[in-house]
Amino acid sequence: MPRLSPVLKQATPVTAVRGEGLYLYDAAGRRHLDFTSGVGVTSTGHCHPRVVEAVREQAGRLIHGQYTTVLHEPLLTLTERLGEVLPEGLDTLFYANSGSEAVEAALRLARQATGRPNAVVFDGGFHGRTIGAASLTTAGSRFRARTGPLMPGVAVAPFPHAFDLGLDGPAAVEHALQGLDRVLATTSAPDETAAFIVEPVLGEGGYVPAPDGFLAGLRERADRYGIVLVLDEVQCGFGRTGRFWAHEYETGAATPDILVTAKGLASGFPLSAIAARADLMSLARPGSHGGTYGGNAVACSAALATLDVIRDEKLVANAAEQGARLARGLHTVAERTPAVADVRGRGLMLGSEFRRPDGSPDPDTAGRAQQAAAELGLLLLTCGVWGNTVRMIPALTVTGDQIDEALALWSKAVAASVR
Ligand code: PMP
Repeated sequence: MPRLSPVLKQATPVTAVRGEGLYLYDAAGRRHLDFTSGVGVTSTGHCHPRVVEAVREQAGRLIHGQYTTVLHEPLLTLTERLGEVLPEGLDTLFYANSGSEAVEAALRLARQATGRPNAVVFDGGFHGRTIGAASLTTAGSRFRARTGPLMPGVAVAPFPHAFDLGLDGPAAVEHALQGLDRVLATTSAPDETAAFIVEPVLGEGGYVPAPDGFLAGLRERADRYGIVLVLDEVQCGFGRTGRFWAHEYETGAATPDILVTAKGLASGFPLSAIAARADLMSLARPGSHGGTYGGNAVACSAALATLDVIRDEKLVANAAEQGARLARGLHTVAERTPAVADVRGRGLMLGSEFRRPDGSPDPDTAGRAQQAAAELGLLLLTCGVWGNTVRMIPALTVTGDQIDEALALWSKAVAASVR
């Protein structure tokens, strides 16, 4: 009998048959509190009634239009509606299906627009698993191992990992920007660099927010050298951090030239997009890029319903409020647990990093805590370069009671896992 490829590694033992809000249900009827959201995708919770209704309605009308053959209404309406949430000026959109594809579309556009070959990425970043996107990924060698040769023309500059470096925010930023200047001087000359590609909050790389000043430093260098600034907000965007876009936390200028979004955009339907200024997007050669499924009609209708729900239920404000509640509880657990060395993140994108007494990364305890939580009915994922951070990324609809339920289970799971 055919089986699933072992390349897929399940983080939990659950086979889901139904989802509702913050909960998944298995065949035995057991309820699991889902603080993974399908890796940050089901932003409005599982099967939000308004998303379900929009999808049902659209599926009965038109499933597939194919945007290089015919246009269709959900695609045009979504393009218009995204104007309500996109940074000013980023008014031209291209759609694909996944984060990886959107990142590659951003790189192709940056190359076409500048005529330059290289990309500079930032250590610990995750941008996807296709060969191009994996070439831009430095969140763990496991994402690259034995699949090369990867794409040439990628230089890696430091990310301001304040905790890792033992530096405060401004010192970490200075360290990283000096490292970037060195990369531009030693490895990828500015006039050969098409793009800086960066996550405002590292996702797979360990839930590390860029301290204030870093994105402004990138913006300043991008302007100085005519380099395209690409912000990958696939995981941290769309309300996740308690602001609509994570780069809004930067107090300096940080508007990207290309913004990449996916995951939470369509509540579980495969849809991604890049947004850019019209003058930049117009430098792409017509017909040089596209796709069969990008901007699928049902996925676009799910995205439209997602936008409605985020607005009507004030989910960005909820992410900020419930995120603060979750952060407080995680800090309380960390205070009584020496193995939890750091708690960080923004909004509903929070990680607890585990270290051994000698300061070395502790993926074993992190893994045990994640598994113990799953046994107790709380689904979580790990992340981080060493796999030693447990992340919490619940739907933006999470309530205070559900945060408290998760914290009680997390507290038990941690206590059972520390040796
Ligand atoms: N960029 C970021 C920041 C991501 O977190 C991810 C997925 N974890 C991707 C890109 C790739 O997205 P996908 O898996 O949809 O290709």
